[in-house]
Amino acid sequence: MKTAYITDSIYLSHDTGANHPESKERLLSIQRHTQEIRQEMVALEPIAVSRDILELVHTSEQVESIIEASSSSSPIDQDTICSTDSYHAATMAVGAGVVAIDAIVAEEIDRCFCAVRPPGHHATPTQAMGFCLFNNIAITARYAQSKGYERVMIIDFDVHHGNGTQDTFYEDSSVFYLSTHQAFAYPGTGAEAHRGSGEGEGYTANYPLMPDSGDREILEVYRDDMPRDVARFSPDIILVSAGYDLHKSDPLAQMNVTTDGIREIVRAILDSADVPFVFFLEGGYDVEALGENVRVTLEEMIGRAVES
Ligand SMILES: [Zn+2]
Repeated sequence: MKTAYITDSIYLSHDTGANHPESKERLLSIQRHTQEIRQEMVALEPIAVSRDILELVHTSEQVESIIEASSSSSPIDQDTICSTDSYHAATMAVGAGVVAIDAIVAEEIDRCFCAVRPPGHHATPTQAMGFCLFNNIAITARYAQSKGYERVMIIDFDVHHGNGTQDTFYEDSSVFYLSTHQAFAYPGTGAEAHRGSGEGEGYTANYPLMPDSGDREILEVYRDDMPRDVARFSPDIILVSAGYDLHKSDPLAQMNVTTDGIREIVRAILDSADVPFVFFLEGGYDVEALGENVRVTLEEMIGRAVES
């Protein structure tokens, strides 16, 4: 078992401006906190993907709108910023997932952590939003399917609901989307009753948690419900939206999950199936806690690999 880590300096040049919580400082903190453990991992470099890869999920109008916003440095909305390098950075955030899948197909690695910006899980097929330009994990799911991984499970522990990922696969029985999130937080989607529709009915599972929920509440989901959903679906590969804004110190959310709790969540996910795993950085806005929690995630990813 081999675990890879993918990042690139291009992710630092997606410039969201002064005082934006989704800043390059997030990645710099992760780099500082993971300096030692990365020595034990395979370092891979992302590629910039072409438009046809982006259009596995997004409409050509959506892709065009990001190209235009990026070239004119115009914001998409109040929160979702595009600077000159944003389109290039966004194509390379998607490209991290593509490189991870190619390395898994080539049997060079079994697991990968993609430390990317901009994040992706709020971007719908037609609309960038919530700091997200393209949906990195949704596109990677489609790319994985094109390489023979027919049944893709996406597990999202970011404190916000991944509305863009849910939208992409809501009527699809080949991609199972599972999310834990703070109820009623941004963007307001993710009710438990929303379980997919048509062919996709039963292939979306939302586990909203009340504000102030802590390790006990969230680990009930990751120890009981999540393994049951994984066993029922029997995925060929698991992709993880790893957002660290569920941590108790996060300024954008009101949950009480500790670093030990995050370690247990990651462990439960890795224990749930004997398949390849690709993790994508999503949120996490307490810069120091973010670095620490990514380090803990990598420890779990590597520890499991060593045991196998
Ligand atoms: Zn979030």
